[in-house]
Amino acid sequence: MNNIILDICSQCGEAQYPPREICRHCLSDQIIKKNVSAFGKIISQIDLRHSLEVSFLKKLPWKICTIQLECGAIIMAHLAEPLKAGQKAEIQNITDPTGADCWLVKSIGSTQIKWEKLGGKS
Ligand SMILES: [Zn+2]
Repeated sequence: MNNIILDICSQCGEAQYPPREICRHCLSDQIIKKNVSAFGKIISQIDLRHSLEVSFLKKLPWKICTIQLECGAIIMAHLAEPLKAGQKAEIQNITDPTGADCWLVKSIGSTQIKWEKLGGKS
């Protein structure tokens, strides 16, 4: 089973995204890191056509999306390919050229995608 790590309230179980110190649902400060399903449903996608980050400039347009995970959290992530709103997808953990860990949304069951293969397609 494919999983990602999210902050979860240990009191009520609510996913905390973006990360917070206090639960947005019950105000508990008992937030823990937990594996959650990496599967979800696309809400929207967009092509970025401008960037202030030099490493993205030669790879524009760059796809990003919002996806609602099975745990209920709605997150923003990089998008590997055009996917339609309502389509089921999965998240792959990936490291960007600066060394930052981030999420990449892709078709369910597709092979692992390398950062170098992303961008430049619209
Ligand atoms: Zn809570």
